Amino acid sequence: MQAVQELIEERRRGIIRAKNEDEAQKIDLSLDNIARDALRVVKAKLSPSLRRVINATGTVLHTNLGRAPLARAAMEMLQEIASAYCNLEYSLKEGHRGSRHEHVESILCNLTGAEAACVFNNNAATVYLALNTLAKEKEVIVARGELVEIGGSFRIPEVMKASGAQLVEVGTTNKTYLADYEQAITEKTALLLKVHTSNYRIIGFTADVSIRELAALGKEKGIPVMEDIGNGALVNLSGFGLPAEPLLSESINAGAALVTCSGDKLLGGPQAGIIVGEKEKVERIKKNQMARALRIDKLTLAALEATLRLYQEEGKALKEITVLRMLTLKPSELKQKAETIRAKLADLCAGTADFQCAENISYVGGGAMPQAELPSYTVFVSPYEISVGTLIERLHAGTPPVVARIENDKLVLDPRTLQPGEEEALINAVASALGENSTGAF
Ligand SMILES: *Cc1c(COP(=O)(O)O)cnc(C)c1O
Repeated sequence: MQAVQELIEERRRGIIRAKNEDEAQKIDLSLDNIARDALRVVKAKLSPSLRRVINATGTVLHTNLGRAPLARAAMEMLQEIASAYCNLEYSLKEGHRGSRHEHVESILCNLTGAEAACVFNNNAATVYLALNTLAKEKEVIVARGELVEIGGSFRIPEVMKASGAQLVEVGTTNKTYLADYEQAITEKTALLLKVHTSNYRIIGFTADVSIRELAALGKEKGIPVMEDIGNGALVNLSGFGLPAEPLLSESINAGAALVTCSGDKLLGGPQAGIIVGEKEKVERIKKNQMARALRIDKLTLAALEATLRLYQEEGKALKEITVLRMLTLKPSELKQKAETIRAKLADLCAGTADFQCAENISYVGGGAMPQAELPSYTVFVSPYEISVGTLIERLHAGTPPVVARIENDKLVLDPRTLQPGEEEALINAVASALGENSTGAF
């Protein structure tokens, strides 16, 4: 009712604003037109803002599309915990207050070889808390080439400033040696920090210090070494044509006192931050005054525990964790999927566009290894009557919305990031976007 009144009011204002009769006549006052607009407005008002979308971009860890879709086991656990009470901070064994970290601590220790672990809202929070706990008003040494910015709002120098730690930069943009760290150590040095440059690479004439060398130096000088590895890889994916990412277990094994990572990058779980490492330090971080402000929520914890449990068997993790399954799809499987989509579209939308299939590239994503290219096979759509831009706009406005990329003025549909059962919905969405001309429907 309100929508109809607003639409009539809008037309009334249009008539008042009209410069002459001709212009006023052009305003469509037909009942049909008002009804159609009202339906559109009401639909938009009733539909939620946060919606499921079909990701046809081929970018597996798309930060703007919510990074990692959860595994089924994680979703089931989340659902179970969401609607009931749970032992979030209650020890059922002892019958008194417990800690929320406990639910994932021993499994994280088993998976990484660390002594202790704790979890927070995201990795930015873990880095902040670790620095604030261990290095407030003291110095932290970082290589210049590792002062990264991630996602526009996480910058190592800024996070460090907020934590109260003083940044001491060493080396140059492209080269840092162990001696650079050694010379920068003073009695105020609290931490040596290594940051994995997840979203860019310095290539060419370069040198950096491995976590093993840095940990050895730290041990000699009695200074702890922390590594922010960003991605949180728990299994080695280099056998699947992906760049070798540092594993949490490798960093612990190399002697890092603390290692931090995200839960929703390569790990494939919910948004979370994980810290593994030496017990004494982890316990101090848990007790930080700001830990409560940055604490993990029970639903996230439920999803994280279920995801981590899948890693207890590597084969299961590769099959059931959505991002790992998508990253390890074989080119032959992708080719078959792309050809099926192409054939169905060509059949359904004959005369509206040209449909081709060809080898192409998918990306791991901005959240992790953005430059890593994966061989893929995609569908290319060139509409005859509308621009590719219009086609994309219509796909965004559809239900469910489809997000895809444009290459050489063609719409690209990459089957890598489709969830089981989404092929059909994608085909229908593209067909209806291409068919809007003939039916004239909004
Ligand atoms: C992604 C990333 C972060 C930020 O992690 P969030 O979970 O997004 O807060 C911090 N450090 C590194 C090295 C990263 O790759």
